[in-house]
Amino acid sequence: MNPWNELLANLAIVAITTSLWTFGHRHVARFAPRLRSAVFGGIMACGTLGAMSLPFQFHPGVLLDLRYTFLAIAGLFGGPVAAVTPFVVAVARRALGGGTGLSVALPLIFMATASGLLAHRFIRGIPDGRSILAVSLAVAFSGTAGFFIKVPIDRWPVVMPSVVAPFALLLFVSAMISSFAISQELKRQEATTLNRIYRAIIEALPDCLNAKDLHGRFIAANPATAALMSAGTAGKLIGKTDFDFYPEETARAFRADEEALLRDGKPIVIEQRFTRADKAETWLATLKAPFNDDDGNPIGIITHNREITDRKRLESELVQTQRHLADALASMADGLAMFDSKGAQVFNNARYLDLFPLTADVRSTGACLKVIIRTAIERGEEMPVGGNIGDIIERSVDAILRPGDRQMRLADGRWIEARTRRTEEGGSLIVFSDITANKRAEEELRTLNERLEVMAHTDGLTGLLNRRAFDKALDDLVSRNPQSIPGPSLLMIDVDKFKAYNDTYGHPAGDTCLKRVANRVAEIMMPYPRSVVARYGGEEIAVIIPQCDSAAALSVARLLCAHVRALEIEHDGCEKGRVTVSIGTATMNAAGDRSKKELLGSADEALYAAKAAGRDCVRSCDECSDAVAAQA
Ligand code: GH3
Ligand code: MG
Ligand code: MG
Repeated sequence: MNPWNELLANLAIVAITTSLWTFGHRHVARFAPRLRSAVFGGIMACGTLGAMSLPFQFHPGVLLDLRYTFLAIAGLFGGPVAAVTPFVVAVARRALGGGTGLSVALPLIFMATASGLLAHRFIRGIPDGRSILAVSLAVAFSGTAGFFIKVPIDRWPVVMPSVVAPFALLLFVSAMISSFAISQELKRQEATTLNRIYRAIIEALPDCLNAKDLHGRFIAANPATAALMSAGTAGKLIGKTDFDFYPEETARAFRADEEALLRDGKPIVIEQRFTRADKAETWLATLKAPFNDDDGNPIGIITHNREITDRKRLESELVQTQRHLADALASMADGLAMFDSKGAQVFNNARYLDLFPLTADVRSTGACLKVIIRTAIERGEEMPVGGNIGDIIERSVDAILRPGDRQMRLADGRWIEARTRRTEEGGSLIVFSDITANKRAEEELRTLNERLEVMAHTDGLTGLLNRRAFDKALDDLVSRNPQSIPGPSLLMIDVDKFKAYNDTYGHPAGDTCLKRVANRVAEIMMPYPRSVVARYGGEEIAVIIPQCDSAAALSVARLLCAHVRALEIEHDGCEKGRVTVSIGTATMNAAGDRSKKELLGSADEALYAAKAAGRDCVRSCDECSDAVAAQA
């Protein structure tokens, strides 16, 4: 009973089948996983058939071969899809062979298949050494278990060393070798795939990636590196150094970085600047790391460059813009302060501090607006208006942070305008402007306007209201006075023989005389509430007395007449030898006058009557027809 010849032939079949798979399987690597497993199962089924065709006949009907190796490996590496074909082939082939060992062989075929599938179930990826060992032991056990059932115990001492042990060893070794060969091939294939992926990534990488030896010669580079160095293709870099592509000064600087790296042995991250062949200034963010042999000695340098020229340009533009902005803010005529949504100051310019000199020390970044306002009030910079201090501060904070414009007067008299706008973050940006000069100009303008207004209604010579103001006042009184009560009364005063006065004393003296008469009339009328005294024209003065009946008007007229006479202004051209006036009075609603025009006409008529009556006298319109003289 020497199984070696047949079993060694079986071993050859295992070797051939395994080799067939390892050499051929790269061609099915692109197949779908299930199809790949099915092909693998088919090859393992061929091996099973081959092994079962060259058995060692241990006993008539008991055939030994290495089928178990194929069955277990098919399950281990290919799973159920791969295991099914060898299993069916083994069962069919063994069933055809018949013999006494059939009942034992079939469970053992199942056991070998199951051991492979079980290992496959619990292993993720390529089986490791321990699972291969376990499956190989299971294979050895599956192949030899039948002996312990079929061979009587008394024959074990003979059969064990001569058949069972070598057969078990052979099964174990064949399973181990075959599994290792397949797993190595799978690992190689996996490494090749990974390598291809990495290569594709590196080739497509927009960043530069390269490796150099200790002398700075390129040993690998991707196309991005070649493009950066204007080398055409990556292959043209191999064996060359930076000195072959860059100006000497640049290459020397790059080499100095690498030498420093090799000295320290630690990766470095640096920014490198150089001028390209096309004279363009270029910036690189560079990572350099040494790579070592198995003993830890450096054998080269890996470099990763990313071009950051655009970023650098943007950074420099940003710095410049920030500088311009800072300059603009610093030289602004207005104060600028920004507060966050909680009222904390986040930014201010110098002018803002200039505007509030008493509290400049508390108006710093991070300061709370409430504290700033409280301090401003306590130090007398801002004037508190009404209420208790807490309420005032709350109101001020609320007002200043609310979008809008407001003006405030500081205790030193300056006016500050605060224009508040909401920021995108929910804070407030406030522009403070000193508007004191504007306010002053505004004030001056208002005063000027008021003076102009007065001037527009004042007679320049006498200081009385002018004709325009008179017309307006009379319009108002006439329209507002109810028709049921008499009034207003109008007194039309005319200086007697004034032409002669001018002729005798000269025009300037006439002006002075006119002024004195006007002042006296105004003085007398002072106590009469809401009375109006105006220069009607030439040497005529009109007086309006609201709510005054004709009798009262006559009394006032007589009084005026007497007072002018009492001035005793010399007038040789007049019979009385002094300046006198004649006065005509008219009262609204008294003699049927219903309009301003009628009232004026009546007063004029009365004046004419007074003149006709000899001057220095008073006539009332309603008395005109009766020709009743009212001598003063
Ligand atoms: P009568 O008694 O009838 O009113 O005589 P009269 O001379 O006053 O009347 P008349 O209307 O003829 O003359 C008015 C004069 O008043 C003529 C003008 O020279 C003079 N007069 C008018 N306005 C002014 C003025 O502003 N200054 C001076 N000095 N004289 C004026
Ligand atoms: Mg006159
Ligand atoms: Mg006159």
